[in-house]
Amino acid sequence: MAMLVNLRNLLEHEIEDLYSAEEQIIEALPKMAEAATDRELKRTLKEHLRITKEQKKRLDQIKKMFKKETVSEENSSGGFLERMFGEGGTKCKGTEGLIQEGEKIMAEEMEPAVKDAAIIASCQKIEHYEISGYGTARAYAKELGLREVERLLATTLKEEYTADKLLNVLALNKVNLKAETSGGTKASPSTAARARGTASKSAAPKTASKKAAGKRSR
Ligand code: FE
Ligand code: FE
Ligand code: ZN
Repeated sequence: MAMLVNLRNLLEHEIEDLYSAEEQIIEALPKMAEAATDRELKRTLKEHLRITKEQKKRLDQIKKMFKKETVSEENSSGGFLERMFGEGGTKCKGTEGLIQEGEKIMAEEMEPAVKDAAIIASCQKIEHYEISGYGTARAYAKELGLREVERLLATTLKEEYTADKLLNVLALNKVNLKAETSGGTKASPSTAARARGTASKSAAPKTASKKAAGKRSR
């Protein structure tokens, strides 16, 4: 890789990394949606696929903006960006690893609800990785006064947060509970109570008042 001499170079590198991440996610999401059983989860993943394609377009826009600047500055001398954005750019190894992990667990034999929970978990790992990358890139763009780049990155960052939140709600309100009780497993007392909406009220003795009464009688 060409030597990175300043924050701008590091931002360009991060954009390449995110671009590779989004490309890989676009390939992985349809398989995850296919493997999912819960309808809402399927829908959420398909919707995130649509959003991810838009995110990739935003990164394309940013790359074009950078390229234009470099061409006018360096008079197309084929500098850092040429090497960065030329054929076979950087592959995001983080995303590659996270997707591989997800595929590995999905290949296991699982109850459908358990698989749904596993899919959510691996998607959230990917979302968190993206949130980290976009957060960093946005901070660099802000530091460098690249207002339009910052705006584009902030838009995507917000979408990634929303996707993470949607998956969280799905897991906590439905999928985890289904997975807990699937395969004929008896629900634990706490689960049963939660499902009935009657979490047992504290039967703890009122120690404080007892003590107080004891003290008075002495
Ligand atoms: Fe994304
Ligand atoms: Fe990466
Ligand atoms: Zn995402």
